[in-house]
Amino acid sequence: MTRLILATRNAGKITELRSILADAGLPHELVGADAYPDIPDVKETGVTFAENALLKAHALAQATGLPAVADDSGLCVDVLGGAPGIFSARWAGSHGDDKANLDLLLAQLSDIAEEHRGAHFACAAALALPDGTERVVEGRLTGTLRHAPVGANGFGYDPILQPEGETRTCAELTPQEKNAISHRGKAFRALVPVVRELLG
Ligand code: IMP
Repeated sequence: MTRLILATRNAGKITELRSILADAGLPHELVGADAYPDIPDVKETGVTFAENALLKAHALAQATGLPAVADDSGLCVDVLGGAPGIFSARWAGSHGDDKANLDLLLAQLSDIAEEHRGAHFACAAALALPDGTERVVEGRLTGTLRHAPVGANGFGYDPILQPEGETRTCAELTPQEKNAISHRGKAFRALVPVVRELLG
């Protein structure tokens, strides 16, 4: 059985991709980067989600000798020309301060009317092999931005993105509902034929 490694220490992401591979009938064993504690962190120096996902996947494939998957994601706001984009996790300055990031974005958009509040979550998922072969796929979750946060589930910008066709924000969806429509779920599912093509 081929072992595949996913560039994350987030147990939720590992479970999600593992169940997508299993549902597709793929026999590969998926492990998280935790299984290899000595792997160095990779600087995300790319300027697109795809570049950053590829950087992480290649670094992990080189360090472990295994086929490696990595993802990179963020929120893209139409009226901001796609920002915060790759800066989503550090929009307000310090990396990973979800509340500060969300508050700053809401303040920046306070005068923007309903019809111009379109946005999407984007995710690039990359597969790299130790021989340098690479593939990258993308997924999107499109919606509109609320004026105030609603809901307690999820993370990041979930409380302000209302998916198209929904009356709730992402933070009001259950994890299962979110995974079924999410940018990451779509990108991971788009990896299935790629894994089949490259790894059999
Ligand atoms: P990462 O690629 O998982 O590191 O995500 C980068 C940043 O994008 C996160 O810190 C969040 O701010 C934002 N983001 C990505 N995916 C989501 C999501 O599903 N919900 C809310 N925020 C997200």
